[in-house]
Amino acid sequence: MSTTTNQTNVQLWHYVCPDCGISDGETGYHGQTHMIYCEVCLEDAQHVKLKRWPVDHEPVDHE
Ligand SMILES: [Zn+2]
Repeated sequence: MSTTTNQTNVQLWHYVCPDCGISDGETGYHGQTHMIYCEVCLEDAQHVKLKRWPVDHEPVDHE
């Protein structure tokens, strides 16, 4: 068996903005890999990195 790297595979993400608090639960859609910054904050000319985790995983938030 061989393992192939499929770069067209789309990974979907849960996300929450640490600044304005928008999340995929509020927008109704998951984020994609290229979605790094909060779109709401971008409209305010602010680059806020979203906190993201894959849709099939729980957030690694409890330490
Ligand atoms: Zn935001």
